[in-house]
Amino acid sequence: MNITVSNLSSNLEELVRFTCDYLGIQPRSLEVDVLEVTGYQGMCIDLETDSFLILVKNHEGQHETLAHELVHVKQYMKQDLGSLLGTEEYETSWWEQEARSLSKQIMEKFNERNDSKKQ
Ligand SMILES: [Zn+2]
Repeated sequence: MNITVSNLSSNLEELVRFTCDYLGIQPRSLEVDVLEVTGYQGMCIDLETDSFLILVKNHEGQHETLAHELVHVKQYMKQDLGSLLGTEEYETSWWEQEARSLSKQIMEKFNERNDSKKQ
């Protein structure tokens, strides 16, 4: 897995690896970059098969946003999200609901793990 993370906060790459393990995915290539579009916290773009670009706004909640977008990567890889986009209302679609709940779970596990390392 080839991960490129531009200079957002330092342990984003660790979070990317943790989240990919958690979701059981191994994208061939993953690039995380800064998003500078208003109105969005994050974005996930499938570039080609198993190759993704994630854009995350540099904000306080960027870790959870990154986890959220990685859930979409899982959905692209395992559930063919690409062919489903537009077939359901965005806000209430199962993929958005799953991304919201899984990203919360992931952040809890990630923070637990980091807390126990410090003790
Ligand atoms: Zn989403």
